[in-house]
Amino acid sequence: MNLSDDVDTLKGVGPKTAEVLRKYGIRTVRDFFYNLPRGYENYETPTKITEMRPGKVVIKGKIDSLTSRRARRRILSVTEGVVRDNTGAVKVVWFNQSYRMKQFSPEKEYYFSGNYEFKNGRYSLISPSAAEVSEIDLNTGLNPIYVAHGKLKSHDFRRLMTCSKDKFALIPDLLPSVKPGTRKSTLFYAHFPSSLKSIKSARDYLAYEELFELILAARLNRLENEKLKAVEMPFKSTKIQEFVAKLPFKLTGAQRKAAWQIFQDMEKGRPMNRLLQGDVGSGKTMVAALAAYGAALNKRQVAILAPTAILATQHYENLAQILEPFNVRLALLTGATKKKPELKSKIQSGEIDLVIGTHALLTDDTEFEDLALVVIDEQHRFGVEQRQKLVLKSPEGLAPHLLSMTATPIPRSLQLTVFGDLDVSILDEMPRGRKPITTKILTEVETRENLYPHIRETLTHGQQVYWICKAIEDDPRTEATSVKSRTVKLQREFPQAKIEFLHGRMKPAEKDEIMEKFSKGEIDVLVSTTVVEVGVDVPNATLMIIENAESYGLAQLHQLRGRVGRGQVASYCYLITSGDTQPSRRLRELEKSSDGFYLAEVDLKLRGPGEIYGALQHGALDLRIASLSDTKLIARAQKDVLDFLQNPENMLKYEELMRGITKYQQLTTLN
Ligand code: ADP
Ligand code: MG
Repeated sequence: MNLSDDVDTLKGVGPKTAEVLRKYGIRTVRDFFYNLPRGYENYETPTKITEMRPGKVVIKGKIDSLTSRRARRRILSVTEGVVRDNTGAVKVVWFNQSYRMKQFSPEKEYYFSGNYEFKNGRYSLISPSAAEVSEIDLNTGLNPIYVAHGKLKSHDFRRLMTCSKDKFALIPDLLPSVKPGTRKSTLFYAHFPSSLKSIKSARDYLAYEELFELILAARLNRLENEKLKAVEMPFKSTKIQEFVAKLPFKLTGAQRKAAWQIFQDMEKGRPMNRLLQGDVGSGKTMVAALAAYGAALNKRQVAILAPTAILATQHYENLAQILEPFNVRLALLTGATKKKPELKSKIQSGEIDLVIGTHALLTDDTEFEDLALVVIDEQHRFGVEQRQKLVLKSPEGLAPHLLSMTATPIPRSLQLTVFGDLDVSILDEMPRGRKPITTKILTEVETRENLYPHIRETLTHGQQVYWICKAIEDDPRTEATSVKSRTVKLQREFPQAKIEFLHGRMKPAEKDEIMEKFSKGEIDVLVSTTVVEVGVDVPNATLMIIENAESYGLAQLHQLRGRVGRGQVASYCYLITSGDTQPSRRLRELEKSSDGFYLAEVDLKLRGPGEIYGALQHGALDLRIASLSDTKLIARAQKDVLDFLQNPENMLKYEELMRGITKYQQLTTLN
């Protein structure tokens, strides 16, 4: 057996099953063994049916009277049955799991684990997991639960694993740094747990393995980056100082430090690969302007890539104001740019020093004379391929210096692992004079009384309001008020105010027009979906209202909130929750803190790395378990990776490891 063999070489996996598995990314034998249970049921001590109490229960019995029907306008399927043991009987109900009809045979005994609760007028066992008694290891009573993949349900995975039980012994070691045989035994105990302790050590090992791979990938990326050549751009200190002295404001200490780090990087003959992190409003654009000026002084070209036309235009306008007096020739290139061929030929002949643009910059016919610095704003908005396209526009044999910017703070643990190949500068200081944003959680019913007066007051002072909604149109299936009906409601409430809406399904030109009007103050209240998340800087907007706040992630809420608080006036953010449940920890943290780095750490703890990384990067990182908040484990893996790299032969010897990490390498690499 070879781990890279096709999954259909496994016993019990026919062509149909293999097709489903492949569809869910399980292509090889390795993928199959690494498809870990999402959890375990403990069937050790089932409760007698007559002794059940409301809450989580495990019972053991036979099932009969299975029926299935459609309910609620046929959207929902309801499967019901009766489970009996020798003390009594209980009704069980599953929703949208009609495959349960075929799972059971009436003469066999099963364990059922689920919630015993009062629903539709009676107590029943709701959506329990079920496993055949004869298939459960009676010594442990522990039953792995797998995520269902299409037609393949948890019990199918258990059956397939059992078919391959004897194959585990053949799994080779992956890493040099652990006891030989650890990998096969851990994987075995993850699927066939012998005790809770064995599950824990299996997970510990696999988390370690994953961290090792991530860190190794990042290390190798860094080593490869160091081999590339880039143009050396000496730091022109006098000119830069003159420039800084003429700025309309004083740079923050953090901006100075970041710029200094960038200038030092650009002096080197290998490409800078730096991530500039800073909360919304911390002044990243100014740092990019300094870097761009530094390159222009060296007579080299700069490209700044922004995710939206609105943002690119705003950068262009801001930068033109600052840089044109210093003879930097700027251009804006977006989908809407007229006379593209003329502009492109100017870029190609070097008549433009700094071009700011959107995806339109990435096309093959945009060529540069001497591109030496690439700045990517909101880097997580771009896929690796898009970033690479721009990076490849440098002259033959040279890589550009790369500055990525993000307002999504990356927790330190992610920085050490996933982003370990980047140098990082942090803007942890806000420009002076910024007023903090006051954040308040409100329930929907409180809005009229508490929020409307505040809106009225804001409008009276000539300030502007953002109102964020979840949906574009009303949808009977959800209770969220849509952008459109919220606009109508607000117009009724505030007839004097100019209220308009914005959403992602509008044409780009329409969106730009609305945004333009809002930033000129021609719109008082902008009702919008999250498209304003990465948007314009409108210092006169001082009130942010986020409806259905509970449905957003912490990072996103923080980003949205950052659209206000950009001027000299105190700003407010209201988080409106629907329903009457207690506000979540997420919302309470947001109410308390405006520190993006702190919130990122909280988010990592609450949601796990997969979600966070997903928000950062379009490509799925697909971490199985890595506890990226486990700093001890990270430190151990870091040390072991360094040891591993000490011996160059290892890279040849540990072939599977090296092959496996290429996917991580591609995800984080920039060059
Ligand atoms: P970010 O991109 O980090 O969210 P911006 O670069 O858009 O932030 O800056 C936000 C605003 O702060 C802009 O209007 C910018 O001109 C202003 N700004 C930047 N640096 C300073 C500073 N040192 N002092 C005062 N205002 C600043
Ligand atoms: Mg910005």
